[in-house]
Amino acid sequence: MNKYVSTRNSRIEVSASKAVLLGQAEDGGLFVPADLASFKRDYHEITSLDFKGMAKYIWDMFFDDYGSDVIDELVERSYTGKFSSDLITPLAKVGDSYVLELYHGPTSAFKDVALQALPNLLTKARDMNGETDEIMILTATSGDTGSAAMSGFSNVPGTSIVVFYPDGGTSETQRLQMVTDTGSNTTACAIRGNFDDAQAGVKKIFREIPKPSKGVSLSSANSINIGRLVPQIVYYFSAYRQLLDMRSISDGDKVDFIVPTGNFGDIMAGYLARCIGLPIRRLVCASNKNDVLTEFINTGHYDRKRDFYKTTSPSMDILVSSNLERLLYYICGEEHTVSYMKQLEEAGEYQITADELAEIKSVFTGLCANDGEGAEVIKKIFDAEHYLMDTHTSIAWSCMEKYVQDDVPKVVLSTASPYKFCASVLSALGLEVSDSDRKKMEACRKHTGAPIPAGLAGIFDKRIKHTDIIDSSDMKDYVIGKAKR
Ligand SMILES: *Cc1c(COP(=O)(O)O)cnc(C)c1O
Repeated sequence: MNKYVSTRNSRIEVSASKAVLLGQAEDGGLFVPADLASFKRDYHEITSLDFKGMAKYIWDMFFDDYGSDVIDELVERSYTGKFSSDLITPLAKVGDSYVLELYHGPTSAFKDVALQALPNLLTKARDMNGETDEIMILTATSGDTGSAAMSGFSNVPGTSIVVFYPDGGTSETQRLQMVTDTGSNTTACAIRGNFDDAQAGVKKIFREIPKPSKGVSLSSANSINIGRLVPQIVYYFSAYRQLLDMRSISDGDKVDFIVPTGNFGDIMAGYLARCIGLPIRRLVCASNKNDVLTEFINTGHYDRKRDFYKTTSPSMDILVSSNLERLLYYICGEEHTVSYMKQLEEAGEYQITADELAEIKSVFTGLCANDGEGAEVIKKIFDAEHYLMDTHTSIAWSCMEKYVQDDVPKVVLSTASPYKFCASVLSALGLEVSDSDRKKMEACRKHTGAPIPAGLAGIFDKRIKHTDIIDSSDMKDYVIGKAKR
């Protein structure tokens, strides 16, 4: 059986299902497989399968205490009928490169791949570990995570979810995706305040009332849960298989992936795919103007004491990338990881050693692009290739253009439908539509001919179900009230 350990104390050992259930280790560390080397496989065993087959293989490997039959059932439940493409994550050839479209799930963002899976992994983990409490998920969101988490947990027995978002702090589309959700166990509630107020409120509730009512325990759908990370490994293998099917590579050829990065979850999954044995040459960590990771990968110096910029790729506006701690654990070891995390907390910065930096640089390249460069890419690629990408994908594309030009195939991960960020996409195309999101979507469709995803097309006509607006100081009482129902 696999052992999962805390990145800050390898004597804290738990099973896979327990790691999923706990989300985070009690010492603040993240759970990682203790023996990553034992996950090495002949990649053909995985690339010979279809997406769900690959998911079954990889989940079964990492979540080994669930048992293969259970895993098969959980994969089916997570992905059957949920994605608008049979391939789940289809690969498109764009110019001389490739775009891996991760946004064909119910909320049109790549977080669906993991958040359709997590509720199933979590409820099973609860049963396996003899817990009987209902799981109540609490999340603060500035947009994408909220709707993807609501969709994932919607009507999952034995769970409920409350999402707090800043009133006026999300796009109209993002807000509508949340407030029109019809799940019988889902709630979206606006907070008078900004995202940080919502986030601080949620953290406080976790500290003060981990059991808000008898028979109800709080949990988080946070991206540091290993149950969110592992499902993301699958699409790297799927991309490789599709390159083979398109005859764009020969078996065994190495490939580069360019990953638009925020919390370092997506690209960490790519690192794990590489460790398992997928022929990946390099992983390019693409950042926007919040370039803390670019500096880190180039100099080994992580410094969160810097200005925070709001950009047109908001899901990458992050100064502390939590999942980086997992990479540190594998590269720098436990002792240094503990020390670096302590320095980050106390001084806001740390510097890794030259040897550690060299090892990171042997796999990762760090690059960044600003809003203007991203917008230029959207227009240029649309004009030249008639391919429309969103503002996060275009940051990655721009980084790819700054990166080595050689004939190793380059796959850009596309993390959101352009229709989720319509206003910025239209303005990049040189079309200013100062109107409602509905009109913007329609203008975007007219101009580009790209189809509006089904999940987004209907939201303007759906009934608004969630109308609560509260002060952040009332969040705790609100949660207790929901838990008592
Ligand atoms: C969450 C998100 C990202 C960043 O992914 P990480 O795993 O946090 O690095 C990038 N793009 C979009 C659209 C996202 O929603």
